[in-house]
Amino acid sequence: MIDFELSTPARAIQGMTRQFALGSIRPHARQADTDGEMPESVIKNLAAIGMGGGSMPAGSKGEKEAGADSKPRENNLVACIGAENMAFGDPAVVMNIPGPGLAAPAINAMGTEEQKERWLGIFDIKDGQLRYGAYAYTEAHFGSDTSQIATTAKRDGDEWILNGHKIFCTNGARADIVVVFATIDKSMGREGIKAFVVEKGTPGFTVGKIEEKLGIKASETAELVLDDVRVPMDHLLGGEDALKPAVKAGFVGAMKTFDSSRPMVAALGLGIGQAAFEYVTDWVAREMPSGYPFRKRTDVALTLADMERELKASRYMVWKSAWMADRGIPNTKEASMAKAYAPKAAYDVCAKAVEIMGPEGYSKEHLVEKWYRDIKIYDIFEGTGQIQRVVISRRIMGYLDKEDPAKIN
Ligand SMILES: Cc1cc2nc3c(=O)[nH]c(=O)nc-3n(C[C@H](O)[C@H](O)[C@H](O)COP(=O)(O)OP(=O)(O)OC[C@H]3O[C@@H](n4cnc5c(N)ncnc54)[C@H](O)[C@@H]3O)c2cc1C
Repeated sequence: MIDFELSTPARAIQGMTRQFALGSIRPHARQADTDGEMPESVIKNLAAIGMGGGSMPAGSKGEKEAGADSKPRENNLVACIGAENMAFGDPAVVMNIPGPGLAAPAINAMGTEEQKERWLGIFDIKDGQLRYGAYAYTEAHFGSDTSQIATTAKRDGDEWILNGHKIFCTNGARADIVVVFATIDKSMGREGIKAFVVEKGTPGFTVGKIEEKLGIKASETAELVLDDVRVPMDHLLGGEDALKPAVKAGFVGAMKTFDSSRPMVAALGLGIGQAAFEYVTDWVAREMPSGYPFRKRTDVALTLADMERELKASRYMVWKSAWMADRGIPNTKEASMAKAYAPKAAYDVCAKAVEIMGPEGYSKEHLVEKWYRDIKIYDIFEGTGQIQRVVISRRIMGYLDKEDPAKIN
């Protein structure tokens, strides 16, 4: 049976996050963009309403204590609904929500049970401390082709020594832990790629430049330098098992991470599109002079109809891919479809919103110019639009039947 209704808890989250976005986030959006950071009060309020904190895996101690029952989990769907609304408030705020961030899906996908408890447990915000996690894959010479890692990890007794440069790491400078991808032996190709948890303050682990960006300016993006960084053996995600021959733990883990992170990034893009759509719709209703030529009014009305259609289609794709992830149904293709579709649709919506408003759309008087700048990144990180199409086409052509899924990124 197909059910297009959200569950009662999911609807409650939807209502609560939208209200919070409009009342407590949107009013700070312009200033945060100018200052290049979110006010701490907004971040604390986010934590106070339960956004952020740990991201415990299914069946973990934390979840059992929280009284999880046997109903299908909705973590991914609810996260997408919350993400859409947070981005609707302001796109950069989501990156500022305290918590493990992209370190969570990586740890959940690759960590041992003990590692999940240990590393995700630190994001329990009961002590009032706001903590961050980050995920460092990208290097100067690659982003899309995730097998090209040059950062190295060499074993030395009971420790690993990491050396390399990571760039464009979201929250990299303030993260308490960073999941760093490195190769233990370049000649092993993808099998050699492993993930390590590196704690802030570890000797040799330093922050390079902080990027100045076109959009999401209130989100911190950092370069990270690893210079003979020593981490204990048990910071290798997956433990000793990750070293067994033919285990592509790091690479496969990174790919698995995308199955839940791509719907969420698509949802964030969708939230920006929705914001631009609602803003321009209100503007049209308010500002369009009654004497506007009929042809022009028809054109605007049809453009609004196109926007609404594209956003709705995006939302169904996002929700379906998240719903599949919640049920453990393989969703790589659907996650990529949502990621390829929603940010592109939202980009077009933002561009049209600027166009409809004319010079006002280009002015800092209105947030549409900011959303137009902010939206582009959602088509880039977590795999560019082109890469999503590569993933989809490989699945359509059935490569998976013959090839190792680890070869598909
Ligand atoms: C604000 C921001 C935050 C980020 N945060 C993080 C983070 O937290 N952690 C992290 O690890 N990374 C992060 N990144 C990096 C991001 O994930 C990469 O920029 C992205 O994966 C694209 O890689 P690239 O920039 O190297 O582009 P490239 O891979 O060099 O691609 C350049 C162009 O070529 C196209 N292309 C590449 N390969 C193919 C192909 N096979 N077929 C068709 N077209 C192709 C791409 O689509 C793109 O248009 C962030 C980037 C930004 C801008």
